[in-house]
This record gives sequence, C-alpha cells and structure tokens, in this order.
Amino acid sequence: MNKIWLSSPHLGTAEYDYVKEAFDTNWISPLGPNVNGFEDDISSFLGTGRKLSGDIKTAALSSGTAALHLALIILGVEAGDIVLVQSFTFCGTTNPVTYQGAKIVFIDSEPETWNMCPDALAQALNKYKEKVKAIIPVHLYGMPSKMKELQDVADRYDVPIIEDAAEALGSSYKNMACGTFGEMSALSFNGNKIITTSGGGALVSAKPEYIEKARFLSTQARDQAPHYQHSQIGYNYRMSNIVAGIGRGQMKVLNERVAQRRANNKRYRNFFNSIPGISFQTEPNNDFFSNYWLTAILIDPVLTGGITRETVRLALNADNIESRPLWKPMHLQPIYEGSEFFGTRLCERLFENGLCLPSGSNLTDEEFDRIFSTLGKLFKV
Ligand SMILES: *Cc1c(COP(=O)(O)O)cnc(C)c1O
Repeated sequence: MNKIWLSSPHLGTAEYDYVKEAFDTNWISPLGPNVNGFEDDISSFLGTGRKLSGDIKTAALSSGTAALHLALIILGVEAGDIVLVQSFTFCGTTNPVTYQGAKIVFIDSEPETWNMCPDALAQALNKYKEKVKAIIPVHLYGMPSKMKELQDVADRYDVPIIEDAAEALGSSYKNMACGTFGEMSALSFNGNKIITTSGGGALVSAKPEYIEKARFLSTQARDQAPHYQHSQIGYNYRMSNIVAGIGRGQMKVLNERVAQRRANNKRYRNFFNSIPGISFQTEPNNDFFSNYWLTAILIDPVLTGGITRETVRLALNADNIESRPLWKPMHLQPIYEGSEFFGTRLCERLFENGLCLPSGSNLTDEEFDRIFSTLGKLFKV
C-alpha cells in the first residue's frame, strides 16, 4: 500500500509553465520576472481587504528561517539582547535568534489557539522590559494567534512583533491576513507547507524600507559600485527565479488549497464526533479563520479507555500512514536546556497528548477510507 503522507506537495497546472518560461528566457538566477511576479502575488493576496495603512511589500527568500533571520538583523537584534519566543513551535522559529547570539526567553501557549499566551508574555516583559528586542508569536498549524491581546501587551513596552506566519498563509484574524500583523512577518514555502516552491520563504512588511533592506542583505549586501563593494555583512538568501515560478503557479491555487485543508478538518471532526476523549485545535470564535494546514487533535487516554497519542500514531504507522506528535516545546529541547520559561507548562501537555493527522490537500477519498478504517478498528467504531 502506498504511504499516506502528513502533508505532501500539491502542484497545480500553471507552475510548470512559469518554470519553463524561466528556462526558455534564461532567467536562471535569484533575479527575474518570476521573483518579482511572485512577490507581487503575495503582497496583493495579503493586502486584500487590509484596513491598516501602508501597502504590503514582500521579499522572496530561500527559506522561512532566512526570513526570520533577516527580520532580527533588520531590527538590530544582537548578542546580549533578549527575544521572547513562543516555545511551542518548530526550530525554524528559534534558530535565527540563536544565530544572532541573542538569548531566548520562552513563552507558553494559551489553551484556545495553542499559541503565545498574552499573560505569560506580559510577565516576561515586566521582568525584562527594555532588554527585550523582539517578540515572536507563531500561528501554529494555521491557527491565528490572539494578535490583538499580544499587540496590546507588546505596545505597552514598545517592543516589535515578528510574526512567524510560516504555517498560516491563507489564515486570517479579524478579517486581516496572517502575515500582516507583525512589524515584519515570515512565510515559508517548504515542501510540506500549504503551498510550496520546493523550498523557499518570504519576508513581508508594510514598511518598504524593511523589505528593501531584506533584498539588499539577502544578495550579499552589495553597495552601489561597478565593482563588488561591501560595507556590511550580507547573506545569500534570495529566492531563485526558477522556484519563484513554482510559487506563482501555487498562488493561483492557494484559496483552493485552503478550502481543501478545511474540508479535511471537517471530515476528521465528523469521524471523531462520537468518540470520547478526542478534541481538536479549534477556532475560538469568528475572529479566527485557520487554513487548517494540519489537523491537530488531543487524545485524553483517561476518556479513550487507555488509547494514547502513541497508540494512535503507531497504529497509523503500521498501516503506512504518517502522523506526527505536536511540536516538542523548544524549552524542552537539549539545545535550549536551562532556558527561562514563562507560563503554566500548557504546551508540555499539548505535546504529550497531541497528534497531527494526515492533512494534505491532495488526499483522496480512498486514502481517507484507509485512515478511517485504521482509526475505526482502534476506536471500535
Ligand atoms: C516551516 C516553518 C518555519 C521555517 O520555514 P523554512 O522555510 O522551512 O525555513 C518556521 N517556523 C515555523 C513555525 C514553521 O513551520
């Protein structure tokens, strides 16, 4: 039986044409019409319906991690500074802070969205005040964070938010797109994300000077001169014109992909409806619109009669179906041992009991039959 993946790339029909055009016109570099076109597509997608002032601008980069790294550099984060980061996330959020030699203080999740807890954030800011140079919340699995509450707390201390929207393209909060709340925001187009360029990312901001700076830094920080002249350290982080062609094609199907992922989520909810002990990461109210990039559940072994998240994961795995525990909180990772943490350790309990189910937008009815047959045997329904 074929493997059912957690989230695999799902190409549309236009990607190949854009890539072919890059070949045909010899734009095989981190420069060219696909890069510009892809940036414009993202900016207009995110900017649609936006009520805040300032147009959204985008710099296409080699990864979401690179986008976060440049955001920190542009804000001047350096060794000795403190950055407050949601602990419940992927290492792509935290690694760039460590690249800069800054210290991470970890912030817990809150129970509704599973994202950064505004109260724990306030406690950390109250302790470290002006030592804090940036705050990084994450919209996990596509679920928007409580941005209003987080922004209110951040504003009290005048600390900028860098929004990690790597998993949340197509999600929105109070009718504004995720990726437009931060001083700067990071997107990812890695192979498993809701749309992909095989690998890639973008930095987004309503401040054009940040985006110009990101483009400059991502192409080795070359000064204006006929020869190569450098007065700053740069990076080789720009997206290539070939992969940007894939991105342009993917932008045409983004809304469809969101609808497909949300339909998956609904299917799982219907299936688990009558099974005690299973709960979902759920939009708290109509302010929150998740792309449901991954459908994430919590399994309470007391209510399931002893079935744990590992029982479920291993049963799926035995039938060649991939599922994955929720992110292991970064403050529990060996690389961040001994780091400070603010909160009630909710994210540790989410990690212990949580599982991401296969959520690709290209899952077929037959594949869902297989998934539900395995789960049905396990839960005896
Ligand atoms: C994927 C991801 C990133 C990093 O993106 P890459 O493009 O893989 O570098 C950062 N943060 C989160 C939460 C992610 O899921």
